[in-house]
Amino acid sequence: MIPIQGNVSLKPYNTFGINATAKQFASFQSVDELRAILSGTNPSVSNLLILGGGSNILLTKDVNGLVLKNEICGIEKVAEDETHVYIKAGAGESWHPFVLYCLENNYAGVENLALIPGSVGASPMQNIGAYGVEIKDVFHSLEAFHLHDKTIQTFLLEDCRFGYRESVFKHQYKGRFVITSVTYKLFKNPMYNTSYGAIQQELDSMGVKELSIQNIAQAVINIRSSKLPDWKVVGNAGSFFKNPEIEKAHYEDLKKSFPALVAFSAPNEKMKLAAGWLIEQCGWKGYRKGDAGCYPKQALVLVNYGGATGNEIYKLSEQIIQSVNGKFGVLLEREVNII
Ligand SMILES: Cc1cc2nc3c(=O)[nH]c(=O)nc-3n(C[C@H](O)[C@H](O)[C@H](O)COP(=O)(O)OP(=O)(O)OC[C@H]3O[C@@H](n4cnc5c(N)ncnc54)[C@H](O)[C@@H]3O)c2cc1C
Repeated sequence: MIPIQGNVSLKPYNTFGINATAKQFASFQSVDELRAILSGTNPSVSNLLILGGGSNILLTKDVNGLVLKNEICGIEKVAEDETHVYIKAGAGESWHPFVLYCLENNYAGVENLALIPGSVGASPMQNIGAYGVEIKDVFHSLEAFHLHDKTIQTFLLEDCRFGYRESVFKHQYKGRFVITSVTYKLFKNPMYNTSYGAIQQELDSMGVKELSIQNIAQAVINIRSSKLPDWKVVGNAGSFFKNPEIEKAHYEDLKKSFPALVAFSAPNEKMKLAAGWLIEQCGWKGYRKGDAGCYPKQALVLVNYGGATGNEIYKLSEQIIQSVNGKFGVLLEREVNII
């Protein structure tokens, strides 16, 4: 019998450090335990919250239902060929320790994704990405528990419809599945990606003469630690907004009025704008009202200095969206899941 606790504070379970209460709370370490908790219930999207590390959610209210914390662990090599190893990890494994495991074993492909908080199980949810690499680049398959059929289904790469911070699980399958494991297809021979951001510069200042996945990961860790707030000290969920993609014609127009506009080429002839730059231009960087604020070193990150409510952070995000839209005619989309 898996205990279901009543009225549990979710403050320790979300990196924003928002104090909200779950009417019911249970954690599970296996599919059987998940099945046992759910036996006899028929949870709907509205009264169930699947939780990993809580690093990509903003709690704006109490959860008037059941919060299920995924703690399915275990990492194993399930197959190998000449060029790849296939590593299956339980959804409840923490992401960064999983990256460290890959580094120790010389499995390449996730080194640029070092230090991202959260769980393995959430990594496909928004196709996590950083420094030029996304999970889709190393994804093989995942297993997920269907909450209504109570069956396990397998999703291959093409089934997940990964996009920029997107997957099928954020949209048509939202709330229908609990991801229980993910299998990654990692490389035996690394293909280094140091072109993005300040990686090369950091490698130079580290005095690196010969590239390795270990020193790339270290460079990423150094950069991230210097730029992003430690959520254990200042609550946050990383980038609060996605970088918006706009039509080329719109970009050309904006570039005339704002010559310093920061943008990159995106698929389908679009341009991706740096949301942080847009927010900064609207004067939000370093803004603080009460305990809700916009991080002084990176405008894309909204922060809770201690006692902010989810609604205060949400309201700030709304003001930012409005002012960026007013100045640039660009609508920012939230990356963080609003609960
Ligand atoms: C400081 C900081 C830096 C960050 N940097 C990055 C970055 O560089 N790149 C990036 O992509 N993200 C980044 N993030 C965001 C976040 O870490 C990732 O999105 C991470 O994958 C979220 O994992 P989680 O386990 O914490 O998910 P949670 O926040 O627990 O959940 C996120 C969503 O996924 C659902 N979910 C979680 N687990 C499961 C499951 N097993 N089955 C079904 N649904 C599930 C939840 O219901 C929720 O909707 C950052 C966050 C922080 C705090």
